[in-house]
Amino acid sequence: MSHQVVIVGAGAAGIAAARCLLAEGVQIRVMEAAAVPGGRCITDTTSLGHPFDRGGSWIHSAGINPMADLARQQGAAIIEDDPGGLRAVVVGEQRLSDDAFKAYVRDWRRLADGRDRAPAAAGDPAMGTFVPGEPWGPYVRHVVALLSGVDAGACSSEDFSRFEHAPGEWLLPRGQGSLLAAAAEGLPIVYENPVHRIDSRRDPIRIQTRRGEVEADAVIVTVSTAVLAAGTLTFDPELPGHMRDAISGLPLGLLNKVGMAVREDSPLAAPGAVLMHHGSADEAVMIRPGFANQPVVCSFVGGSFADALEREGVGAATEACMEALRAHYGGAITRDLGPGLETAWRSHPWSLGAYSAALPGHSDARSVLASGVDERLLFAGEATDTTLFSSVGGAWRSGIRAAEQCLKAMGQARPPDGNPHPGLRSGAGEPES
Ligand SMILES: Cc1cc2nc3c(=O)[nH]c(=O)nc-3n(C[C@H](O)[C@H](O)[C@H](O)COP(=O)(O)OP(=O)(O)OC[C@H]3O[C@@H](n4cnc5c(N)ncnc54)[C@H](O)[C@@H]3O)c2cc1C
Repeated sequence: MSHQVVIVGAGAAGIAAARCLLAEGVQIRVMEAAAVPGGRCITDTTSLGHPFDRGGSWIHSAGINPMADLARQQGAAIIEDDPGGLRAVVVGEQRLSDDAFKAYVRDWRRLADGRDRAPAAAGDPAMGTFVPGEPWGPYVRHVVALLSGVDAGACSSEDFSRFEHAPGEWLLPRGQGSLLAAAAEGLPIVYENPVHRIDSRRDPIRIQTRRGEVEADAVIVTVSTAVLAAGTLTFDPELPGHMRDAISGLPLGLLNKVGMAVREDSPLAAPGAVLMHHGSADEAVMIRPGFANQPVVCSFVGGSFADALEREGVGAATEACMEALRAHYGGAITRDLGPGLETAWRSHPWSLGAYSAALPGHSDARSVLASGVDERLLFAGEATDTTLFSSVGGAWRSGIRAAEQCLKAMGQARPPDGNPHPGLRSGAGEPES
């Protein structure tokens, strides 16, 4: 069977590319390894009895994020997330005194804002260079892992600083994954059909999948950089050295979530607070009660701590989060908890991690990957967006960019102000405070 364009992966990037190409009359097929669309942005509607995004939930920098338009077009309920910063920090079983808490928050902000100052430093040092000293540096360094998924020592400060911040941090009570699921409806996606090999020595390109071989004039690959690095999807000929370097310069970090349903009258049901717990300087759990205005407490672990918990096995992350909840609220809080779930993105076979972070010295890898091999073999996905990387919006934008590269090669350029959400119905929707 022959297509004009085959898209590998039905996450945000693949769905956006598919929508864009279909709207221009291009004949496409999307090959997806999993049984459902969304990839790393998927809403679990059953485990907790409330919608819960297992992966991407915030619409970061809403003012410039295409997911904000998508949410409006779908008429989704939107919450402007205003956690008001950290409310309390517990180290071991000790809540920090007011003075210690102020010093901790000052150092936390200084490092998180290091993204604004870092470009001034020569040679793209690791974010670890900017970790403040004792007593709070060893604790606040975890902010880098919670944002970028990798420890400060493995995170390019240049890359960290390039993420574009704009007003608006939105959450959706029905989940960001539900936006993608709706956007994928009606697309020609072949599920449970991983692509094993892409042979671009021939014209048309031959694509080997679990269900057989198809041909295409062009291919857009949207799988994560960890899947690319793992070698389960092979290329013939092998990808050029600069592309392989770009992939290895953009490893996937890890962020895992533990979600627990809570009683409606529990303090854990009230939204707004951000709480931190450090069992030791090597551990950090961030707690968000009333997540997305649902009676759900969402806890986060990131970087090498998250990796260690995931390696320990099922239940280890949940136990770390329970310890954090007991440290903040006392042992009786466990009576407020209902069903729970924990994610394990490192072991997820079609993701192999959470999102990409450039190694120190590799901040230009994103644009290298985005340039593709040639006009027939293109790459999209969060790792290829140079300013909204590691986000759903960046992935979506990269899918549109790759589709436009394809259209240009076909002599079918879209208008520069083309609708970023072609083929979608529109509706009302503005954030509630
Ligand atoms: C815990 C967590 C929290 C996050 N929080 C946020 C957040 O709050 N806000 C935000 O914007 N972002 C967040 N992100 C990041 C965001 O979810 C991702 O950046 C984005 O969803 C990536 O989209 P993508 O299309 O690039 O890749 P993916 O979603 O990974 O899509 C690639 C698709 O390819 C498929 N695939 C893989 N291998 C093959 C193959 N061989 N053949 C065919 N198909 C294949 C996969 O199944 C997948 O569906 C979070 C991620 C995680 C894990």
